[in-house]
Amino acid sequence: MVTLIPEKRCIKSAAVLGSTGSVGVQTMDVVRELGLRVDFLAAGRNTELLRRQIGEFHPTLVAVADGAAASKLANELKNDSFHPEIIWRNDELEAAVLEADADIIFHSIGGLAGLGTAIAAAKSGKRIAMANKEAIISAGELIFSELKRSGGELIPVDSEHSAIYRCLAGHSDTTQVKKILLTASGGPFFGRTFEQLGSVNAADALAHPTWKMGPKITIDSATMMNKGFEIIEACKLYDVPEERVEVLIHRQSIIHSMVEYNDNTVIAELGAPDMRDCIRYAATAPDTASVHGTGLDFAKIGSLTFDKPDTNAFPLLEAAREAIRLGGTAPVSLIAADEAAVCAFLEDSISFTDISSFVIETMQHIDVSYEITAESIGAADRQARAFCGNLIKFRKGCD
Ligand code: MG
Repeated sequence: MVTLIPEKRCIKSAAVLGSTGSVGVQTMDVVRELGLRVDFLAAGRNTELLRRQIGEFHPTLVAVADGAAASKLANELKNDSFHPEIIWRNDELEAAVLEADADIIFHSIGGLAGLGTAIAAAKSGKRIAMANKEAIISAGELIFSELKRSGGELIPVDSEHSAIYRCLAGHSDTTQVKKILLTASGGPFFGRTFEQLGSVNAADALAHPTWKMGPKITIDSATMMNKGFEIIEACKLYDVPEERVEVLIHRQSIIHSMVEYNDNTVIAELGAPDMRDCIRYAATAPDTASVHGTGLDFAKIGSLTFDKPDTNAFPLLEAAREAIRLGGTAPVSLIAADEAAVCAFLEDSISFTDISSFVIETMQHIDVSYEITAESIGAADRQARAFCGNLIKFRKGCD
């Protein structure tokens, strides 16, 4: 599990991985607000935004997704006054993370693609503000042991896990925790049956009621796979069994999660739904920064509501519990199958309910390895992706 008591660190400089993504852009807002120096930026292919970030923050090193993006960026920077070193190979990126000079590494590269850099960041001995849940879900054990060895620390940025982390403040472990109450907005399809969900399209699913996020996580939120992933993430981060993690639909997204202790008292963390609060806390913990603007207006909010999730309409919640009960590389297979299915749904190749059906069918056919290594994770990833890919191909062939 993760260390629950943050070390008081002097955070003056940052490396931001995934700086042009949804969380990355919000991270740059926080970096600007806290006045941190930026040493290193890693992004994908959005060279236009990256160029603007380079112009503003002057990192000495930037990484992009591939050689084509590197040449494009070098060309775009030709007439600019500031020229960082540009790298693009995976091994160079991981070496740069490992040797980063920065006091904090903000990690917001999405999906299993962020696993290598997450392990490198854990080895670096630095504080990691971790927004990538897939790395924790698939290789939490590896990451926590590297952190222990390097003297680094990890503070979760995922809003629910940031909230749980704050609710656990003052405790060195979770032995006194009766349960974790993981709140969920319910997504855009709250209240619909599985049958009614058969006809929804990508535009409907991309309209999240409260949180502003990238397309993959927005679809995962609509299927509630995201909440399923967060159950696994909570189990790994806080060393609790899945039956002690309860999902609670809370439409207003004001309570970001809660912890119930053995004496039946509950501690909750509340705030406006804004990722920047979680990102900022990861940088300033154990302290909190003063910010402009006003906080919650409880009288205006009026009431907070809670519902039990409908596991028939959203079967991926149970699929996630099954994956953690299976253990080993099963959660990796779940992530990989879901990535393949969501990608096919966004391309209009399969229906919304096919996502859960295909993921569940894939999970019934996977091999599980109980040794967590880069190789076993890679093998589980490839196998699940290929199996789910075949289901998608067959569906496409039927249309
Ligand atoms: Mg979340």
